[in-house]
Amino acid sequence: MKIIFLGPPGVGKGTQAKQIADDYKIANISTGDIMRDAVQKGTPLGLEAKSYMDSGGLVPDQIVMDIVKEKLKSEECRNGFLLDGFPRTEVQADSLSDITIDRVVSFELGEEEIIRRLTKRRKCSSCNSLFNIEFHPPQKDGICDNCGGALTQRDDDKEETIKRRLIVYKEETEPLIEYYAKKGLLAKVDSNGEIEDVYSRLKEVLEDSQDRR
Ligand code: AMP
Repeated sequence: MKIIFLGPPGVGKGTQAKQIADDYKIANISTGDIMRDAVQKGTPLGLEAKSYMDSGGLVPDQIVMDIVKEKLKSEECRNGFLLDGFPRTEVQADSLSDITIDRVVSFELGEEEIIRRLTKRRKCSSCNSLFNIEFHPPQKDGICDNCGGALTQRDDDKEETIKRRLIVYKEETEPLIEYYAKKGLLAKVDSNGEIEDVYSRLKEVLEDSQDRR
């Protein structure tokens, strides 16, 4: 399976991506995670990407496209892949035009709910698991249930930066919904409700696309 997850920040894509990639035994490629890792390690990529990420803007297309191209060629993508957070612009989408994508899922959620979720989001600094201090809290405050790592708030999950990220999403990424609808690949998934509810809706859509293959 080759899947793309589209949707604004905070819509729950990353949480669902982990589960779905596990289910289908495909590579889970989150360009945001790749870049945060580079920033943390202080690599040349990280140094370049940091200022764009901190301001809530997008990292230049060529940088992200080169990373994804390399990944897609690698052994881990042999069974397929799930792209979470890529493409985010039409130029990025065009860079995938020689690959047959099975399904593009657009996660739908109102802006108020997005802001509510993002300001309460916490991420494990070790294994990247996601929690929400209100809706999906860890068993012990500040500690990851999966690996015991420390939970932190992402720098770009502060309210001002969130607003900027949402504007950038509307301007740059939202047009891709129409782009993929025209190609007949788009499925919309309502992201309201519990993680398990969204997961069931998502599974229905993906099983349907598997049947169509
Ligand atoms: P995310 O974790 O997907 O919300 O990504 C965090 C940040 O990484 C974004 O706000 C962008 O600055 C950068 N980023 C992630 N994916 C991309 C992409 N496909 N194109 C450009 N910038 C990206």
